[in-house]
Amino acid sequence: MKVGIVGAGNVGATAAFAMVTTGAASEIVVVDLNAALAHAQAQDILHATPLQRPVRVRAGSYADLAGANVVVLAAGVGQRPGETRLELLGRNAKVFGAIIPVVLTAAPEAILLIASNPVDVMTEIAVKISRLPPGRVFGSGTILDSSRFRALLGEHLDIAPTSVHAYVLGEHGDSEVLWWSGASAAGLSVTEMAAQRGRPLDAAAKARIDAAVRGAADAIIRGKGATWFGIGGGLARIVQAIRSDEHALLSVSAPTAGIPGIEGVTLSLPRVVGARGIVATLTPTLNDDERAALIASATILKEAATGLAL
Ligand code: NAD
Repeated sequence: MKVGIVGAGNVGATAAFAMVTTGAASEIVVVDLNAALAHAQAQDILHATPLQRPVRVRAGSYADLAGANVVVLAAGVGQRPGETRLELLGRNAKVFGAIIPVVLTAAPEAILLIASNPVDVMTEIAVKISRLPPGRVFGSGTILDSSRFRALLGEHLDIAPTSVHAYVLGEHGDSEVLWWSGASAAGLSVTEMAAQRGRPLDAAAKARIDAAVRGAADAIIRGKGATWFGIGGGLARIVQAIRSDEHALLSVSAPTAGIPGIEGVTLSLPRVVGARGIVATLTPTLNDDERAALIASATILKEAATGLAL
């Protein structure tokens, strides 16, 4: 499968590398305003292919995206220390206005996968600019946050994170909702699993995990300036689900229909991802606190989008 990546910075390049190591793509074209950077990243990643998977990786122009099944949009500016994702919005919205029409001219059949932050609002912008049908344009949303949630639960329970089913809903950002009541492993609630593992998941442990998931980006940015491995893995995972028409359940961001309180808002819910993009959305069964938190998250996103006068 041919994948285009616009934005050859930390996120785009790491996503490309993860697609090479997982075999999510067979051909990758990297495009960036900084052509020298795109070329350098593509060369560096290409050099790993004899040791990983035989993926054809190269830098190119927008015209070289012709025939791409998926185009990942990872262009923009990274989050500054202390800067909220929503504050990034103005700086990144203009970039999308320039990029999306040219991407779609070159690759009119492509699924657009948005990574640039604030990803939910950037996805809403991409939906409006592209006018693609529902499911063809969506954001990585909380796939990263859900992955962080699973990693920390796996660590606490001392079981493989791949055996933990847990989702973060709503905004990819401060108002995100850890769906504790829906988190499970081997069909057991994580609380029951924790009891069986002799590692109680009491209120303090939950608060610690919640804070670590919610504060992960800030903590990593303090240490190394930006985050890229987690999201690179997340983008490759989504592309793999598209490539193999998996119908995988992933928390990704798209306009929401038919769910009272969050109707029309672009945010993350567990969605079924396959060859055509998002093919269905699930309605999570939430407790009262989770439902209120999801509606609050949706309200924040709705206000951010309204401010844009899209
Ligand atoms: P980066 O600064 O390393 O790379 C961004 C790249 O975009 C640069 O190479 C730049 O030249 C390019 N670019 C800028 N304008 C362009 C244009 N008009 N056309 C083509 N290329 C253009 O940043 P990064 O760390 O790779 O982050 C990229 C985006 O991903 C940011 O918005 C960041 O906040 C976001 N991000 C998202 C998540 C997530 O979970 N969705 C996680 C981490 C970062």
